[in-house]
Amino acid sequence: LSEKLDKALHVLKGHGSITEVNVAETLKEVRRALLDADVNFKIAKEFTNTVKEKALGQNVLTTLQPGQLMVKLVKDELTELMGGDAEGINLSGNPSIILMSGLQGSGKTTFSGKLANFLKTKKAKKPLLVACDVYRPAAINQLHVVGDQIGVEVFSDEGNKNPVQIAQNAIAHAKQNGHNVVIIDTAGRLAVDEEMMNEISNVYKAVDPQETLFVVDAMTGQDAVNTAKAFNDRLNFDGVVLTKLDGDTRGGAAISIKSVVNKPIKFIGTGEKMDAIDVFYPNRMADRILGMGDVVSLVERAQEQYDEEEARKIQKKIAKNQFGFDDFLSQIQQIKKMGSMKDLVGMIPGAGKALKDVDIDDDSFKHIEAMIHSMTIEERTNPSVINASRKKRIGKGSGTSVQEVNQLLKQFNQMSKMMKMMQGGGGKKMMQMMGK
Ligand code: GDP
Ligand code: MG
Repeated sequence: LSEKLDKALHVLKGHGSITEVNVAETLKEVRRALLDADVNFKIAKEFTNTVKEKALGQNVLTTLQPGQLMVKLVKDELTELMGGDAEGINLSGNPSIILMSGLQGSGKTTFSGKLANFLKTKKAKKPLLVACDVYRPAAINQLHVVGDQIGVEVFSDEGNKNPVQIAQNAIAHAKQNGHNVVIIDTAGRLAVDEEMMNEISNVYKAVDPQETLFVVDAMTGQDAVNTAKAFNDRLNFDGVVLTKLDGDTRGGAAISIKSVVNKPIKFIGTGEKMDAIDVFYPNRMADRILGMGDVVSLVERAQEQYDEEEARKIQKKIAKNQFGFDDFLSQIQQIKKMGSMKDLVGMIPGAGKALKDVDIDDDSFKHIEAMIHSMTIEERTNPSVINASRKKRIGKGSGTSVQEVNQLLKQFNQMSKMMKMMQGGGGKKMMQMMGK
């Protein structure tokens, strides 16, 4: 989607003057891009009409930078369409009960774990996970594995085939044991059917949740909208969780679902790991769809993960010209902590496209780590001693080639140079920012 829109908006970006024909052409491209992303035809048409009206209303053609204004209009309208401001989840109950709904494979169990982890680590809650998938013993086991991973208790009752009873027993258990959030993971089916709907609405009625979340696979496109509608008709859910937004995903689902069921998208899932969860921000999503990059979340994530102590230590070393390979390694480890590289790179404006085909997986770090580990302490602190025979030894020791060692040395030199530059100029501010 973003590439197509990029192209469409490219016509206008930077254009000194545009004509009405130009606006119409661009909006046609925008509409096509939305359709390609599985946005419903009617919604796409309404969208471009609204933008056109607003553009004419604001006299786009007579402003100094019509291209920029058009981009802003498209962006604002997209943001509006996806829900305006970010909405949180209701945690006012004691315990607060959160019910998961959705088709099989949409990511309910994974997301239940992610949410429990999020509430535990970011909101200091004591969640209880409840396994209400009574059909597949493997599903109960899956939730236990997830719970163990994040250190959250899982309530299950394998002999019991009655999800309403399990949910009620779990809530009683939560009250007795001081859990303030209860997350109920339910069974899904491959397609919407009466039995599943009855079952989940029975649980819904029995536990009266503060928050019912509908979990949907963002990759299912137009189908996602139909499923959302079916679940909303029965459960009147409170919010949507859009999973699998990490792959080659169509952002279109976010737009369509919101406009069809008019419920906020509250979270997104961006991977299989337990920390691959983000609060949904419509304006950031609009930026991402438009290829402007999600700089705000990049900065936020960097701030969260960057170890302040480490930053200060490195700063001192750079000042004293003592930056060596051990520091280089710890820098890399810091970067790794921030999340998968592909994720991060995708958030940098323009980079997502430029680096789309370049493989920046975490594996390339393993090689770098191996090479540094194969260096002597002297080589690490004073890399200038690394001559040809040392390079050969390092290559052998780490299972890499001399070429790769050379590449690493080059990267190291570039990084040290950059760090010195940052130290000198406005870079101090940047280091401080990262340190926070
Ligand atoms: P459920 O049947 O609704 O409980 O779905 P699961 O939680 O078992 O997830 C189904 C599959 O999707 C599993 O293989 C998960 O690892 C995977 N999955 C879930 N969420 C995400 C996500 O955000 N990104 C990716 N890439 N995979 C996901
Ligand atoms: Mg499941």
